[in-house]
Amino acid sequence: CSETQNMNILSINLENPAQPIVFDGNLPLHATQCIACGQCAVVCPTGAVAERDDVPIVMAELSRPAGQRKKMIIMTAPSARTSLGEMMGDAIEDAEIGTTVAACHAAGFDLVFDTTFGADTCATLEAAELIERFRSNGPFPMFTSCCPGWVSLVENKFPHLRHNLSHCKSPMMMLGAMIRHWMSEECKAERSTYYVVALMPCTAKKEEITRPELRGPLGDQDVDVVLTVREMGRLLKARGVVWKSLPGPHSPRYDPPFDVSSGGGALFATSGGVMEAALRVAYTYLSRESLTRENVDMFEECRRIMRSGDWLSTHIPLTPGTRQRREIDIAVVSGSRSIQDFLIDQQLSDPFMAAMLKQPKHFVECMACPGGCIGGGGQPQSLDDLAL
Ligand code: SF4
Repeated sequence: CSETQNMNILSINLENPAQPIVFDGNLPLHATQCIACGQCAVVCPTGAVAERDDVPIVMAELSRPAGQRKKMIIMTAPSARTSLGEMMGDAIEDAEIGTTVAACHAAGFDLVFDTTFGADTCATLEAAELIERFRSNGPFPMFTSCCPGWVSLVENKFPHLRHNLSHCKSPMMMLGAMIRHWMSEECKAERSTYYVVALMPCTAKKEEITRPELRGPLGDQDVDVVLTVREMGRLLKARGVVWKSLPGPHSPRYDPPFDVSSGGGALFATSGGVMEAALRVAYTYLSRESLTRENVDMFEECRRIMRSGDWLSTHIPLTPGTRQRREIDIAVVSGSRSIQDFLIDQQLSDPFMAAMLKQPKHFVECMACPGGCIGGGGQPQSLDDLAL
């Protein structure tokens, strides 16, 4: 069960599969080895497994009477901003970001920001960290850290790899911190006067926002609530938003200042995207060239390799034709099963073997959901079961 509050758990005993471990108490999710990726909810054929429903909490905030109402802010993830449209009945080719923005405004949100802004920031900082690790000789591999399901897997099963995780927050948490800073410095607004919702393809992010190390200076959260795409569909229905009546392709864009983003940030939606976005930035740092169409095309082969399966490994020259030629070994893995197979294959699953490894890969992207966030545990299942 992917409920994040109380639940009964039947867990497979890997030592003796015939004797499952039964936890018959009401355990909080963090007391189990569940990584909260929500894949169980996506594949459950009866709908018996579902994420914790946070729609009523957001409905209550949106329905506060004037005078008690907080400024309502929502940020939308790169993969969720179009999958919402698909869920609401748009053809895939017609799914339009502007319609999602218009829907958020129609539901009562005052400001709609683009999490892709945070993704660009994340790619920039990860590239800088990768280069710094080359200068200080590791630790390698550097693992991406933007997927909370993967981070939980490391903490639960491979704690010896914690120091290999990038120090960067996820795009959602980066943007949450930037919104707090902007509201405080530019808008002179107290934290208690605004409410931040994140529309995500992800159930693990419901747990991520509560992590103690990601809270603000007074222990409060940067992001108040995470809604999955499925929950957002229910919220829009409850708020009486009629999708087909929303403005079309020329509908409103995101609100400033968090409305600008690059194609690199948008790549975060899919497996291999975090890697490519960070490598593009690393390329500009190392070569001192600005990123042109030709330079982006240089990653085409890399992109083709990265997108062609769920466990990929390649060796790419990062700065061809320059004095600072730097070849880096990368790997892209998605799906928690594939990640564990990869760690075993690379001798990283065992603390002793990992410490002895002579030539580890330099940079590894791990996403807990198959195909990355576009296959996330909070994405739409089917049009029928949403009954929209
Ligand atoms: Fe969430 Fe994306 Fe990670 Fe899946 S791959 S757990 S959707 S961040």
